[in-house]
Parts: sequence; structure tokens; C-alpha cells
Amino acid sequence: MRLVILDDYDLASEWAAKYIRNRIIQFKPSADRYFSLGLPTGSTPYGCYQKLIEYYRNGDISFKYVKTFNMDEYVGLPRAHPESYHSYMWNNFFKHIDIKPANAHILDGNAEDLEAECQAFEQKIAEAGGIELFVGGIGPDGHIAFNEPGSSLVSRTRVKTLAKDTIVANARFFGNDLSKVPTMALTVGVGTVMDAKEVMILITGAHKAFALYKAIEEGVNHMWTVSAFQQHPRTIFVCDEDATLELRVKTVKYFKGIHNRLITPTDFYAVLY
Ligand code: PGA
Repeated sequence: MRLVILDDYDLASEWAAKYIRNRIIQFKPSADRYFSLGLPTGSTPYGCYQKLIEYYRNGDISFKYVKTFNMDEYVGLPRAHPESYHSYMWNNFFKHIDIKPANAHILDGNAEDLEAECQAFEQKIAEAGGIELFVGGIGPDGHIAFNEPGSSLVSRTRVKTLAKDTIVANARFFGNDLSKVPTMALTVGVGTVMDAKEVMILITGAHKAFALYKAIEEGVNHMWTVSAFQQHPRTIFVCDEDATLELRVKTVKYFKGIHNRLITPTDFYAVLY
């Protein structure tokens, strides 16, 4: 497990974007060899997507041979609703880059058979050869995707009822009206993300500090589902200073003193694995 601590949100977003860019470039994707990338929505990855769009516009990277798989989607929210994760991904990322729409996979929360939709999603990931790099965000309650506290740590893509904390946190996107926030979602499971070859989790802000502490300083615990990634052989937690506020000084000094010096997005993969 690696913990990369950047001074603030912008620097954390830039680090994450450079890491994604470099991993895709190193992979040398082609028509016979697509790079499969798992992606989150939310306020946290927004800055990372902005940077990736910038790298695309500069000609540094192409997404032509990239397949994406989004972590989750609300159930019952029309696809064109401004707060659907389809809208989020297209407006904030996909429409600005050269990904082929057919390669951008997002669960359909309006499918007639939600179970079948979830199984088909797992199948598509398998057919793509698994996920090379899964990027995720977490909630203040430590959920990864919509794997709410108490979720099985070997769970697969499925329908989940959202926790009250999540509904309250997401109300800001629905005019602070709790009654407008969907209460169910389709989500990849913890096991689905654990199957990725590499996982990068973005955690920024003081409101996520307790979750980061639970994620890395205590044991694996299904009540803090992100903690499962302690047991993934290639996990990088990318955070800002604010998110480290609940960590022990010793933990922060260890990761900042050694890892932050060694780990640049350019050499990280080569140096540490
Ligand atoms: P956020 O959401 O990035 O908007 O904080 C993350 C999440 O709840 O998973």
C-alpha cells in the first residue's frame, strides 16, 4: 500500500491525472490491446478529469484505445438528468476527449432487469480482460463506490440501498432536498475493484480525514469498505494534507519523508513495484 500526500486538492488532482496518463502511455494501447480504466464520479475526481482533458488537448494522450467502466449509477434517475452519473461523465470528461462512446461503460440504472444489468457489467469487464487501473473515491463513511458500511468485502456488481449518510452528503447535488436524492444505486462490488490489477483511491478534504484513518491505520473492516484495499497488492491512496488530519504524525512522516520523495507520477510504477 502506498500513501501519496500532496499539499492540496489541485496538486493531488494533478498527481492522479499524471499517474493515469503515464500508466496508459506505458501500456501502449492499440486496436488489439485496449487499456481498461475504472472511473468514479463525485466532486473529488473533477480536478483530475480537468487535467486529463488538458493532457488530451496538448496531444500528450489519446483515449482512442481506452475502455472505461464507471463504478456506479443511481437507480431510477433518468439518464439525461443533470445529476445522473451518465451526465456527470459525459459533461465533465468523455465529451472533451476522443474516447469512443461504445467504449465508455456506465451501468444503466433504468434497466428493466437490474440484476441482469449488473451481471452483464461484470461480464463486459471480464471480456475486456479485467481492469488495469481502477480509480476510486470514497465517502466520509469510508464507502468505496456505493459499497456502504456493512457491505461484503467480496461483493460483486449489484443493486444497493444507499446509507442515510450518503443520501445526506449527496443532497447538495439535488438542491439540498433529501426527498429528491435517489435511494438506490447499481454499484461495482468491493470484489470487483479488488480484481483490478491496480487501484488508485483519491481522498481529499478534512471531512474525509477520519475515513482515511480508518482506511489505512486500522484493520480491514467491512464497516469501512475502503479498508479492504490494504490487502490489494497495488493500491495507491492519493490524498491532500487536510485528509491526513486524523493520521498519526508517525504515519504521515513515514509516507511523506520517504514515499513523497521517491514517488513522482513518472517513476512511481517503475521504482516501487
Ligand atoms: P465526493 O463523493 O467525491 O463527491 O466526495 C465520493 C463518494 O461519495 O464516493
